[in-house]
Amino acid sequence: MDHDDRDHSDVVVVGAGIVGLGVADAAHRRGLSVTVLDRSPAATGATVRNFGHVCLTPQTGRAWEYARAARERWIRLGHDAGFAVRQDGTWVVARHPDEVALLAAAAERAPDATPVHLLDAGEFTARAAVAGAVGGAHLPADLQVDPRRAAAALAAHLERRGVRFRWRTPALGVEEGRVVTGRGTLTAGLVVVAVNHDLDHLLPGLAEAAGVQRCALDMLRVDAGLPAPLPGPLLTGWSLVRYRAFADLPEAVAVRERLHAEHPRAAAFDVNLMATQQPDGSLLLGDTHRRGPGVDPFQSEEANEVLLACAADLFGVPRPRVLERWQGVYASGPEEFLVARPAPGVVVATVTTGIGMTTGLGLAEDVVRSAVGGDRP
Ligand SMILES: Cc1cc2nc3c(=O)[nH]c(=O)nc-3n(C[C@H](O)[C@H](O)[C@H](O)COP(=O)(O)OP(=O)(O)OC[C@H]3O[C@@H](n4cnc5c(N)ncnc54)[C@H](O)[C@@H]3O)c2cc1C
Repeated sequence: MDHDDRDHSDVVVVGAGIVGLGVADAAHRRGLSVTVLDRSPAATGATVRNFGHVCLTPQTGRAWEYARAARERWIRLGHDAGFAVRQDGTWVVARHPDEVALLAAAAERAPDATPVHLLDAGEFTARAAVAGAVGGAHLPADLQVDPRRAAAALAAHLERRGVRFRWRTPALGVEEGRVVTGRGTLTAGLVVVAVNHDLDHLLPGLAEAAGVQRCALDMLRVDAGLPAPLPGPLLTGWSLVRYRAFADLPEAVAVRERLHAEHPRAAAFDVNLMATQQPDGSLLLGDTHRRGPGVDPFQSEEANEVLLACAADLFGVPRPRVLERWQGVYASGPEEFLVARPAPGVVVATVTTGIGMTTGLGLAEDVVRSAVGGDRP
């Protein structure tokens, strides 16, 4: 049978989200030929449905290491690919003394590279127009990207540099040296599977054995009529009891218990109340969480009502006007990352919690370094 050179690459990447694009960039920088395939006509997965928070400071352990590596890569890729990477940090509002105490404990333990700068109520509200602040913190090492622009700009940049893309091409199966797709078979020395929660479709046995489920999140873009722009991503007490650099501290227990007692509806939807301003002034607002082997196709409007009520209370404004609603999904597992080798020359790279924008580029670099070795100058 005739062999078409375009059907062979050193590396085939399945999935054009941030992890797959990061793998493509890392492999291409090492002088390897790379093909990325995605079943969609453009990146439409979690990578475009999120807040764009690149929140290093709240991470610990391996996630922190990946986030540090990812930070450098975001800045370089933003420059090279022409998308904005805001370097103004994250802002965390404390609306109860127990949240101030938790932030103070985190500030004491924070590594030098990712400090937590404490602010009093006056300092905080001078920067961010929130209601009921009794204190807060600025996390200056954190970044912000526009998720709707970053993935598209990154894919276009990689394509200009010679990475081949095959859109609307689903992978049906992966094995040593090849990927069977809906449009024929591609061969490669290395196959990297970066399909996020769809691992349970492509390699269901592996996903099941690793305990990977789906986590579905409700998101809104709203016009909140804020009196002044936000200085950057805004996190709240709900974030403090979720992200490990805060949530693992003993001071988090009181915060969690109080939030759940005071806000049972928000707790029932597993809310992590965060907001981010878009270039047009609208706010990305979220999120809720539901985990299971599949995603319920029916989104409860009550979840959105809870988010809107939380936002009105947070900003001291009337109920924000909804501009867009959507659902995002990510892989959720017992660990923060799943790296597996289901066959020789096949590597699965999955962020199995909601921190892939923060860590995905670091995970991608690590996967490529482990598979093919160090950077080519
Ligand atoms: C609502 C929401 C908010 C979030 N907020 C943040 C945040 O602010 N900060 C942060 O760090 N993280 C955040 N996350 C998590 C982050 O978005 C994800 O961890 C990250 O985008 C995962 O990237 P990925 O490349 O693995 O997956 P995806 O972006 O989902 O990409 C996977 C790609 O694989 C493709 N694919 C799947 N199956 C196949 C197949 N068989 N053949 C071909 N292609 C296939 C899909 O079409 C898709 O394009 C959020 C997630 C959600 C859902």
